[in-house]
Amino acid sequence: MTVDQPLRVAVLGAGPGGYAAAFHAADLGMNVTLIDESPLPGGVCLFRGCIPSKALLHAAHLIEETREAAAWGINFAEPEIDLTALRGWKQRVVDRLTRGLGALSRQHSVRYLQGRGHFEDPNTIRVRTDGEVTDINFDYAIIATGSVPAIPAALRLNSPLVMDSTAALDLPDVPGSLLIVGGGYIGLELGSVYSALGSRVTVVEMTGGLLPGADRDLVEPLEKRLRSQFEAILLNTRVAELAEQDGRIRARLSAADIADPERDFDRVLVAVGRAPNTRNLGLEQTSIEVDSRGFIHVDHMRRTAEPTIFAIGDVAGEPMLAHKANHEGRVAAEAIAGQPAIFDPAGIPAVVFTDPELAWCGLTEGQARERGIPFEVSRFPWAASGRNITMGRTDGLTKLIIEPGTERILGIGIVGVGAGELMGEATLAIEMGTRVTDLHLTVHAHPTLAETLMEAGSLYFGHSPHYIARAPRP
Ligand code: NAD
Repeated sequence: MTVDQPLRVAVLGAGPGGYAAAFHAADLGMNVTLIDESPLPGGVCLFRGCIPSKALLHAAHLIEETREAAAWGINFAEPEIDLTALRGWKQRVVDRLTRGLGALSRQHSVRYLQGRGHFEDPNTIRVRTDGEVTDINFDYAIIATGSVPAIPAALRLNSPLVMDSTAALDLPDVPGSLLIVGGGYIGLELGSVYSALGSRVTVVEMTGGLLPGADRDLVEPLEKRLRSQFEAILLNTRVAELAEQDGRIRARLSAADIADPERDFDRVLVAVGRAPNTRNLGLEQTSIEVDSRGFIHVDHMRRTAEPTIFAIGDVAGEPMLAHKANHEGRVAAEAIAGQPAIFDPAGIPAVVFTDPELAWCGLTEGQARERGIPFEVSRFPWAASGRNITMGRTDGLTKLIIEPGTERILGIGIVGVGAGELMGEATLAIEMGTRVTDLHLTVHAHPTLAETLMEAGSLYFGHSPHYIARAPRP
């Protein structure tokens, strides 16, 4: 009698996609090797992305709030910022989480192998670690190698004064002036950090608005506040060239009628998007197919064109978000185990951790218009929310995108303090196929920010107790 051997699974990349896939595959009885260049799991998100940026944004929020407290009769002195201590705190946050993941790997019986992996054939990854070479033979592999900052050639300057997000998170100093190229997630989050620490921040965005994928009515309160904090926000403007001159960076800006196109800055952060990390992995030794941007083609189970190899997370397509990778990882592990799993969420939440936060899930108003999808909107302004007034932060909006006739909620967008946390309820509502009536009739605690979701629902029927925007529906 032969005993079935557990499937051998190799996971390449130990970010939120890779470690979730590895842990789940091990829990499903597979023999799992998790490979990454870092000494511990965590990937970009934990080491140089989501987590360190959120630690710094928390500090930035505190600084801004102490300034605003003057309006409530509480006066703080200007903060003294000890950059070494701030860096140390950020590092302790990162260390705690990544060490925890190392311990979890052991508890899940996942073998963690530090090194750079390269496919030799559809069943082998060669891992190089400090001159040592280990061949990992697998029945199945999951590629979860994430993404890297995309820096256009014109902005690629070999100078420490020009940073990508990784370098900016190291907080080398607080520059007097900081140019940020790109008004997307990273530009606005890190711009907020540096502005709170004391830099004069200029954001240059090539499209006509910040956060191009988000609805304009949600961007508006954020842009208004950022304009009061930043030195400048230049829209419809490109950075054509960067050059180092006398210890500073000279940027040549290009826009229709710009008065002074050449401007000098102490530092520059380039945040114009990320590219899937699919180069130099040996994919050519397999039948995996990638598109023109480098994303790996996958199906709904996250199988690539090579039957033994799956791909998840940033390498498998937009949106490049940790929580999407995490769920795809679980789907891939279950698919390998022969379970009927597919990745088909009704909505993937997006959260920009600025102040106010901007978040959405499901269909946006912009997408509905573009795709010609009929919709109705219910907007509840936070100026009518008791909780927001107590916080001195009425700059917010909760809106529902609703399917006419069925009253099903297709999308939810929120801008305001704590909008990211409110996405929990919003995402569940979309995933459960909630109708507006459900939000309207669900008792929400008073006074809370979450009430704005209920109020937006009630408002749709003209029954919001705190805001009148339409006549009651019969
Ligand atoms: P992004 O796509 O969010 O924004 C890039 C911006 O740069 C866009 O607005 C684009 O129009 C602009 N741009 C492009 N080329 C330009 C140029 N030459 N001059 C001026 N502007 C230019 O990209 P990002 O901010 O680099 O972030 C990358 C990805 O990382 C995001 O798409 C997101 O998936 C992820 N991310 C997520 C979070 C979060 O979830 N909170 C935070 C940070 C990053």
